Amino acid sequence: MSERITLADRVTRIAPSPTLAVNAKAKALKAAGADILNFSVGEPDFDTPAHVCEAGKKAIDDGHTRYTAVPGIPELREAICARFKTDHGWDYDPDQIQVCCGGKHGLYNIFQAVLNPGDEVLVPAPYWVSYPPMVQLAGGVPVIVPLAEEDDFDLNPDILADYATDKTRIIMINSPSNPTGSLFSTRALDAIGKMALERGWLVITDDIYETITYQDEQLPHILDVDERLREQTIVLNGVSKSFAMTGWRIGYAAGPEHIIKAMNKIQSQSTSNPCAPAQYAALAAVTGPQDFPGTMQEAFLPRRDFFVDDLRAIEGVTCVNPGGAFYVFPNFSAYYGRSFNGKTINDSVALADYFLDEAKVASVPGSAFGADDFVRFSFATSMEVIREGMKRIRDALARLD
Ligand SMILES: *Cc1c(COP(=O)(O)O)cnc(C)c1O
Repeated sequence: MSERITLADRVTRIAPSPTLAVNAKAKALKAAGADILNFSVGEPDFDTPAHVCEAGKKAIDDGHTRYTAVPGIPELREAICARFKTDHGWDYDPDQIQVCCGGKHGLYNIFQAVLNPGDEVLVPAPYWVSYPPMVQLAGGVPVIVPLAEEDDFDLNPDILADYATDKTRIIMINSPSNPTGSLFSTRALDAIGKMALERGWLVITDDIYETITYQDEQLPHILDVDERLREQTIVLNGVSKSFAMTGWRIGYAAGPEHIIKAMNKIQSQSTSNPCAPAQYAALAAVTGPQDFPGTMQEAFLPRRDFFVDDLRAIEGVTCVNPGGAFYVFPNFSAYYGRSFNGKTINDSVALADYFLDEAKVASVPGSAFGADDFVRFSFATSMEVIREGMKRIRDALARLD
């Protein structure tokens, strides 16, 4: 069929989420009977805790099936404030909170509310797939700040100034990071905070993985660098990862009231409010027992250790030990230039395709995260699957000419 209706430039400029695309391809192959091991998934392999599901069901039975306040039900916004106070000692009031349809939607609202055409956003790479396209959809320009594997993907403060211009408006922080699992050090956060204060940048800190870390100490946080940063920081979080609630679509943002208000305006004209029963489920998550992320973390830790050790044991492969989240991000560039059946593998897309076709292992090419030397594997899957997957990856690499 011919396409008589042309599309908006803003749509043709961006690509659909590659992680969701790989996941869909892996699922389709699996449905067709292929024995696929799926490491592409960006969500916990746990069910939402029972008390949270019960709260969601009860909300429906109690008739919470209508529109809610645009920024979310007051009880949930109050509970989020209480959570921030308990977990971090931060004081927010409910007018400084927006509940949105997942953390991803919160980020979308922020960019729409703050960016003007040509405004630049500093995005450290490897970055989460959705940051650059979301910035572009808001008319902004993503400026990629490279993080080095040798630095464990921590930000090198000395290079920050090289990427800042008088058009810079926002800097992104994602620690623990998706895809690397890396953490930003206090030194990096100090440098970001200092420059943000000097130059009046908005700091967006995507804390979606903050409860899934493999170290005992509290993570350093940008808001603990300097009290004044509160006026120019948005904290983005949600229940998707910490309570295995990806399908409920509840995230939240906290920040200066005028920005939250602007985000509410966008939300009021787009989604009205997040799903009502899901907000009550999130309320149960935020106010209830907080041991669930710890339970997941305990399950993830031995998987991480096994995965990292096994990857590092492969000739030519390097892999940073992730400090949080549930991804490993090994560097396979030593294999680029090698070939299979006469076809040369030159980049992460070709390698991930090779893994899928020849090893029946689904992964996400690093190019999706702005880092073509790498491939992302999620360890939110069972130890058996990881063991078998590693065997297949090793064999597949060994078969390359
Ligand atoms: C999963 C994820 C989010 C938010 O996910 P939602 O499902 O929209 O809540 C945000 N940032 C990063 C880095 C993520 O991995």
